[in-house]
Amino acid sequence: MSNGEFEGYGGRHVPEPLHEPLEQLATAYDEVADTDAFRDELRDLREEFAGRPTPLYYASNLSERYDTDIYLKREDLLHGGAHKINNCLGQALLAKRSGRDRLIAETGAGQHGVATAMVGALLGLETEIYMGKKDAERQAMNVFRMRLLGAEVNEVTRGGKGLADAVDAALEDFAENVEKTHYLVGSVVGPDPFPRMVRDFQSVIGAEAREQFRDRTDDLPDAAVACVGGGSNAIGLFHAFRDDDVAFYGAEGGGEGTDSSRHAAPLSTGKDEVIHGMKTRVIDDDVDVHSVSAGLDYPGVGPEHAMFRAVGRCEYTGITDDEALAAFRELSETEGIIPALESSHAVARAIQLAETDEHETILVNLSGRGDKDMETAASKFDL
Ligand SMILES: *Cc1c(COP(=O)(O)O)cnc(C)c1O
Repeated sequence: MSNGEFEGYGGRHVPEPLHEPLEQLATAYDEVADTDAFRDELRDLREEFAGRPTPLYYASNLSERYDTDIYLKREDLLHGGAHKINNCLGQALLAKRSGRDRLIAETGAGQHGVATAMVGALLGLETEIYMGKKDAERQAMNVFRMRLLGAEVNEVTRGGKGLADAVDAALEDFAENVEKTHYLVGSVVGPDPFPRMVRDFQSVIGAEAREQFRDRTDDLPDAAVACVGGGSNAIGLFHAFRDDDVAFYGAEGGGEGTDSSRHAAPLSTGKDEVIHGMKTRVIDDDVDVHSVSAGLDYPGVGPEHAMFRAVGRCEYTGITDDEALAAFRELSETEGIIPALESSHAVARAIQLAETDEHETILVNLSGRGDKDMETAASKFDL
């Protein structure tokens, strides 16, 4: 949808100085990204730098345990350890080909900042990452990684020194330096064209998985499951199956596990509101968005998910920290694969579905690997 609207969600709700830059970006995306030269270069970088295609893995031990065929799309095997590189490669290449020589991004836990710094180094683009000072102190290793990759890390000291303050600082930078700067947004969120552009760059996940699934089973899965923070790995998996008879399930960060803390999930609960340039589903102000996985700690969600929810195309459920941690451990023990805590929410939802016998085959997006989560896991399990 080229007007950036998803059945009333989405749009471009931004102050006047950002209208022109976003219009330029939308035009660049529609024109540049549609050329053979762009597609060829992106394909080569996906293969040789990022490690695509990723395997489709039949989880035989888990499948046997739950008497349901469970397949994992292995985005955890990508360079950087997660799906984020798919989006960063696409946007950085677009920036370069439309004459920008500088990338900026905001980051919370630091994973998107690291992925942006990797592509900045690869393509020779000056890179500046905005990060709240509080986050930077908590994630010192990711700050070091970004600097090692040649990026400048700007620790934001205003306000609460968190992600929202980093977003504000990055937006100001963008408005001031728009001639040479691309703002590399990390998920299917923000004003148009970001939600559809990030979706398109991530939709390689589902396009590959659909073909791999067909080759292997001569069929399509009954269900597709993904975790939802901003929503990019989920949309990336779902997009290729949109018009198929495949049920979609989104697993949100459900917090610590009493019923009221399940309200940290903007799709399973939440309300309609304008935030960060888009109309979407947002959690209530008085709810703490904390989840055991930093990557799911976002108060809003991509507008296309808000639409999927409204029209009933996808079912969204809050998965508690304890449920995600149990799935994290179960996948490690049964399959020899340690998933990211974010991805563990999707695994937990898949196990719930397998237990109810509703579907015979389930495709799960394993969005990232768990190496980054060892400290958290070690504090939870007494092994
Ligand atoms: C960042 C991250 C997420 C959450 O982002 P989405 O845009 O919802 O995909 C999920 N999984 C992993 C491994 C991540 O790093």
